[in-house]
Amino acid sequence: MNDRLREVVVLGGGSAGWLVAALLAAVHGGPDGGLGITLIESSETPPIGVGEGTWPSMRDTLRRIGLSETEFVRRCNVSFKQGSRFDGWVQGQAGEHYYHPFSLPVGHGDIDVVPAWLAGHADRAFADVVSPSSQVCDAGRAPKQAQTPEFAAVANYAYHFDAGLFGQMLREHAIQHLGVRHVVDHVDAVLSHQDGDHCGDIAALQTRAHGRIEADLFIDCSGLASQLIGRHFGVPLKSEREVLFNDAALALQVPYARPDAPLPSCTIATAWAKGWIWDIGLPTRRGVGAVFSRAHASEDEAQAALQAYLDATGAPAERGTPRLIRFEPGYRERFWVRNCVAIGLSCGFIEPLEASALALVELSAARLCDELPMTRASMDAVARRFNDDFSYRWARVIDFLKLHYALSQRQDAPGSDYWRAHRDPATWPERLRELLPMWRLRQPARHDFGRIDEVFPAASYQYVLYGMGFRPERLPAATATLQAAQACFDEAARQARRLVPALPGHRSLIDHIHQHGLSR
Ligand SMILES: Cc1cc2nc3c(=O)[nH]c(=O)nc-3n(C[C@H](O)[C@H](O)[C@H](O)COP(=O)(O)OP(=O)(O)OC[C@H]3O[C@@H](n4cnc5c(N)ncnc54)[C@H](O)[C@@H]3O)c2cc1C
Repeated sequence: MNDRLREVVVLGGGSAGWLVAALLAAVHGGPDGGLGITLIESSETPPIGVGEGTWPSMRDTLRRIGLSETEFVRRCNVSFKQGSRFDGWVQGQAGEHYYHPFSLPVGHGDIDVVPAWLAGHADRAFADVVSPSSQVCDAGRAPKQAQTPEFAAVANYAYHFDAGLFGQMLREHAIQHLGVRHVVDHVDAVLSHQDGDHCGDIAALQTRAHGRIEADLFIDCSGLASQLIGRHFGVPLKSEREVLFNDAALALQVPYARPDAPLPSCTIATAWAKGWIWDIGLPTRRGVGAVFSRAHASEDEAQAALQAYLDATGAPAERGTPRLIRFEPGYRERFWVRNCVAIGLSCGFIEPLEASALALVELSAARLCDELPMTRASMDAVARRFNDDFSYRWARVIDFLKLHYALSQRQDAPGSDYWRAHRDPATWPERLRELLPMWRLRQPARHDFGRIDEVFPAASYQYVLYGMGFRPERLPAATATLQAAQACFDEAARQARRLVPALPGHRSLIDHIHQHGLSR
């Protein structure tokens, strides 16, 4: 390889592959000396086809790629997501829930609002007191108005979408507008440089019909098969099964009973005796799935829990057969080896709680674009930083997901110790064991999280900690602090009173976008 980076091959045409290829092409492609980008996908292995909940970062990613939000909403069966609602996670009682909204608490970072919440409003959910989001979601409102420009928000939001349609749209855009070369073929072998400075680097991928496809940098987006980082380079998967037990899901798409059924503007995550169920409302159907640990529940039990949930939430009786997806919860010990970077399921998967997988894809793709090593000589240093950063990020995702389970007071189902085992500190990550006692005395704060662009910031920890019923000790606070916090609560209440009547219904905004579009 001549030292300058000229050609990039992305292996895999799932959401990860197309997002990475499109972003790389948008930032570094182009006819005048830009990178050549080729995406190879096999017609024998379809993309996984789940992964329909996102984070607000997706707005920025789509904008960077050059997509129109109107077209995205129209083509990908999109609805808006303002956060997640957790039903039955604390004690498992009917009607019990809390929100983890995307909007920050009013006044977040300026003052400690917890003493004032405990002193004056402890009977109300934390999220309801510090943010208007739960009221906006409960009222079925959209996060923006019809006149709000594309990608701009009134209340912070992300998306739910149809993963298959999303892949198609990205593919079309990447090929037609960004110049990505598309090869539909199966990669049978990985060919390495045998000598010279780059001995051991990947030289080319051997395809069945298109021969050798060479490049300077290879992005492994081959999904759970992990063809390059896992199979070729043999980088082990660091299992997190002892911390987060879930390793399977039964996924199903279900129609609405009526086409004008209410459209929730959040992902609903409902705990059951041995796992939890996701419910993502798209305009024309729901995506629903039971997540479980095969060590604690059989497939039949998960199936029964899913069907009971669908009955309870009014799904029509004709439902199809759920698809079983198995995965090993964990992540690779390294993500970037030599001239190969793994992004997406190829570098790991924990479980879909809090929808962090696509967010990690976006973060990885953005990081790759921002720090793209333009020569092979500069690649190893970039790789070391990338590996260090993303190991840190995966570990923080694990801490945060475990928090949802560690604090649950749910009783175990007969014959199971699913929730009790989650509560056992021996199954907690070390950092969580250290931080939870500190948070008995003060709220989670910025300095608990070392990096500027943390995957889950202190605000997310506050929403989940207090939503899960965790109560810090009531320590005395200065009158000025209590008054400042009360002013924040008043502001959150004012915002809720203003936003609920001012924002359109969620479904009616989606209908409006389909008919008239958003302003650009
Ligand atoms: C049950 C479940 C629920 C999830 N829910 C969410 C969620 O709500 N939010 C979220 O952010 N994420 C979620 N995820 C994760 C999300 O689905 C993935 O992160 C996302 O779809 C990206 O997948 P991928 O592109 O890495 O892999 P895939 O979609 O599996 O794509 C792999 C690609 O590699 C290609 N390939 C493989 N081997 C070869 C070969 N030899 N030759 C050529 N091509 C090859 C295949 O053809 C395919 O195109 C969920 C995952 C699961 C399992």
